[in-house]
Amino acid sequence: MTTPEAYRALFEPIALGPKTLPNRFYQVPHCGVGDLRPGTQAAFRAIRAEGGWGAVCVESASISPETDQGPVHLARIWDEYDVRNLEVVADSIHEHGALAGIELWWGGGSSCSGLETRMPGRAPSQIACVGTPWVSPQEMSLADVADVLELFSLAADRARRAGFDIVYVYGAHSQGPMQFLSTTFNHRGDAYGGSFERRARFWLECLDTVRDTVGSDLAVTTRISVQDFGWGGVSNDEALAFVGLADSRVDFWDVNVGSLDWTTDIASSRFFPQNSQQPWTSKIRSQTRKPIVCVGRFTDPSVMTGALRSGQCDIIGAARPAIADPFLPNKVRDGRVDEIRECIGCNYCLSRWAQGGAPVACTQNPTAGEEYRRGWHPERYSPARNAHKSVLIVGAGPAGLECARVLGLRQMSDVHLVDAAETPGGSLSWLSSLPRLGEWRHVIDYRVAQLGKLANVQAIARRRLTSDDVREYGADIVIIATGAHWAGDGMGPATYGPIPGASSDHGHVVTPEQLLIDRKPVGGTVVVYDCEGVVTGIGICELLASQGKHVTLLTPADSPGEYARFTGEVPQVRRALATAGVAVRTETIVTRVDDSAIGVRGVYDDEETEIACDSIVLLTQRRSDDSLYAELASAGAAPVAQGAVYRIGDCVAPRMTADCVYDGHRLAREIDSPDPSRPLPFIRELRLLGNSGDTDYSRQLDTHAGPLLHRATT
Ligand code: SF4
Repeated sequence: MTTPEAYRALFEPIALGPKTLPNRFYQVPHCGVGDLRPGTQAAFRAIRAEGGWGAVCVESASISPETDQGPVHLARIWDEYDVRNLEVVADSIHEHGALAGIELWWGGGSSCSGLETRMPGRAPSQIACVGTPWVSPQEMSLADVADVLELFSLAADRARRAGFDIVYVYGAHSQGPMQFLSTTFNHRGDAYGGSFERRARFWLECLDTVRDTVGSDLAVTTRISVQDFGWGGVSNDEALAFVGLADSRVDFWDVNVGSLDWTTDIASSRFFPQNSQQPWTSKIRSQTRKPIVCVGRFTDPSVMTGALRSGQCDIIGAARPAIADPFLPNKVRDGRVDEIRECIGCNYCLSRWAQGGAPVACTQNPTAGEEYRRGWHPERYSPARNAHKSVLIVGAGPAGLECARVLGLRQMSDVHLVDAAETPGGSLSWLSSLPRLGEWRHVIDYRVAQLGKLANVQAIARRRLTSDDVREYGADIVIIATGAHWAGDGMGPATYGPIPGASSDHGHVVTPEQLLIDRKPVGGTVVVYDCEGVVTGIGICELLASQGKHVTLLTPADSPGEYARFTGEVPQVRRALATAGVAVRTETIVTRVDDSAIGVRGVYDDEETEIACDSIVLLTQRRSDDSLYAELASAGAAPVAQGAVYRIGDCVAPRMTADCVYDGHRLAREIDSPDPSRPLPFIRELRLLGNSGDTDYSRQLDTHAGPLLHRATT
């Protein structure tokens, strides 16, 4: 296939010092795998290389046990065992012709939890970290400075021997080298503190040390944040000055924004458009003669080529777009732009890591993180052994759409996707109509577009099926994906039962569906009771405020939209609510609902007070719409064609959109397994005592369903 003329610039090779990047697509270091799952690390990165990313980097690799960000795990390059595992990662990337990069990470005072290693962190000055203010780092002596430089040298040598092509000194996000440069974190009075040149010295010495160690065969770079937004990083002026000062020491620059507050870097689509870092990162051009990598959730090749053309950057860096679509570069190259599975900027991927280190997963790409343990390839689907069977899927929400797409790709002979609504999308249709959530619609649009290319899949709208209809339909396999609805009686996690007086049959009690689908009117003074804490309640508050309502967000949690702490959106959520004029009351439970008021009490006290309001919007919990499934699958129910009835998504249990997409994908991947209702086993990367080496794990290849992986028993 021919690369469209407009995108040719994205496929021009470029020199990175001694190495050549084969195109302008660069998967920057990003978290989500870590050192505990080396097989996952290798397979996850290799798939990105196969998909056309010219360089693929491992996430930050701690160079010493003192950089311990427990409980989450990132990569580590402490010893020869790490070298062995990382060698496999680098080899896997090289197999597809990409460069392999590794980011040497010494966190200084910003990653010194010591939760696993019990070691204190060292830092330029003894200043408690924002992230872990209950511990302070050890202030470094000059001997400590020399010691850390030695750690960089040892780690760089390991990286070289592991076969990496690109070695980073990680500074951005207020890591150790950047702390030395920062007047906030560096209060030293010796040769490493005070003037700009003295504060810059340590970072420069890190670069010199790494260069001296790896020689001229490897590309050396550093990651720098050029705008700290007042969170104690480095001012824009000094960051730019540092670029000029260090330019001769690096082969290229990896530039972003943010500091200890990195929410502007992992910018969610709710608050930041594509290429939102441009105003700051574009400024470094005047300071450097070297190639520049920029990030900005680039998913649109036109925006990418625009960034190259404008001189903002030379290379398109990406983390989330590469998670959502590992094959994005190849799709652009082959003129298949309509097949790009666009990152929606929901930050679900990040949220899992931020909750304690769960492996990477993605709303748009259910194969992310499953490449090794389940053997799932994002672009390859084997024909199903039972492809001759017909399938009826009831419900075209995220789970149903994904299930239909994968069944279509697996060449099932006849797949019908039936939905009662006018348009597909299920609950995501109305959810994505809320303020700031427009990009979430890509989950629907991508799948609808791909289904349109599959002749064996038919989408049928405006048809509500009863259990008798389903039986008469005559499909061999029936999959119920009827979703869930918000409880109308206040059932939820705060009261563990209905709230007295709450009923969505009453005019003043409203569920999200009633508000957004049925257009049920609400009064001028509204309470939004948000027990979910993700995006729905915040969106409804902003919507109602924009309509001139007096809105109070009330939540049992200690912060509004509390999941934002995992998605990196806390400052933005707070500012958005304040800007909209939404009053916020946290740690509060609704105890009763009357006609013109609600009873409330604090989470930690029993005294009830009253809040007057015209309407209350209840987001207490969702409940599965599972009656159709129950009628078809319960004991004693009349049999359906061949008796194969499954359910997926919220119909099983209301979950995040990502989990519903995954559920639909999983069932379709395993539709020809012995019992599709039960997930096949997956590899657990678990050390087996008494065994050693790779023989601890085995792969059984099931040629029809993709690799069927399991841990060997001994
Ligand atoms: Fe993008 Fe969301 Fe996937 Fe992360 S989880 S890569 S933000 S679509």
